[in-house]
Amino acid sequence: MKTIVFDGIKAAGRIKKKIKIEVAEVKSILKRVPKLVSVMVGNDYGSGVYLKMQKKESENIGIDFESVKLQSGITQEELISKIEVLNNDSVVDGIFMHQPLPDEISVSRIRKSIAEDKDVECEHPVNLGKLFNSDISLVPPTPAAILFAIKESGVELKGKEVVVIGHSNIVGKPIALLLLNEFATVTVAHIGTYEANNLYQHMKRADILISATGENNLVKGDYIKEGAVVIDVGICNRKNGIGGDVAHEQVLGKANFVTPVPGGIGPLTVAFLMKNLITLCKKNYGRKK
Ligand code: NAD
Repeated sequence: MKTIVFDGIKAAGRIKKKIKIEVAEVKSILKRVPKLVSVMVGNDYGSGVYLKMQKKESENIGIDFESVKLQSGITQEELISKIEVLNNDSVVDGIFMHQPLPDEISVSRIRKSIAEDKDVECEHPVNLGKLFNSDISLVPPTPAAILFAIKESGVELKGKEVVVIGHSNIVGKPIALLLLNEFATVTVAHIGTYEANNLYQHMKRADILISATGENNLVKGDYIKEGAVVIDVGICNRKNGIGGDVAHEQVLGKANFVTPVPGGIGPLTVAFLMKNLITLCKKNYGRKK
């Protein structure tokens, strides 16, 4: 079987082309461009890489980008005060909060403190709750990227067995909801599934397998069903560079479609983050009119 290897960079380019047109429209109405503020606490390496990528993409699509770097010793209340300043700044359309945060700071408390209408990551409980009601006007960027890639594979989701490995609030849980909206039959596996020695049997029967764990080579060639669609979300540091959850070479010739790491879900995620920024900017402008 010839495996289609998804080109996330090319697909992201198509999305960004549309975003650039929307930015120009917003600019002609608002007489300013949409603005994203990216807040980072401390010096996490991965966050630093993501920050650089956001800056580059912002320049590329022509939006205003500001990076706010805060000391790791900042208290939760001080961080909330900084966020409130951004919430009240009328030219800020989206606030991105890098993770990890220091242990003393509650991620869920910070998520709640970002105004719902500036929640570019769609992690505020109200925005996540809307997904529950099939309102997909705002979708967390990584699940949006995953759904987009699955649709690009050409596979019909209705009635398909989809296995999602990973049950985090930013990937596993929201993608499961989006897939239910598409009438797929969804199983969400996680570390408990693995420790109970049940992960293999779930992977083996998946028409569509989505892995988002950060466990290097968790998904091996033998574990997938012939002709499956395999979506690799994981980002793992390997000796020879970055890789994913999937043993990519092993699934070639067996899967029908696979997303690589790097160059798959990652670039698409950034594109969907920018799409959310434009959505929020337009929505807020509409409200002010
Ligand atoms: P997380 O740490 O919050 O969650 C990890 C999940 O994997 C948990 O549900 C855990 O139970 C499960 N898990 C861990 N080991 C497992 C195992 N051996 N078997 C089965 N399940 C296991 O992580 P997250 O924030 O959801 O991110 C997951 C991965 O996706 C990371 O590698 C992260 O870097 C990557 N990621 C990529 C993008 C992107 O744009 N490409 C975006 C977000 C996250």
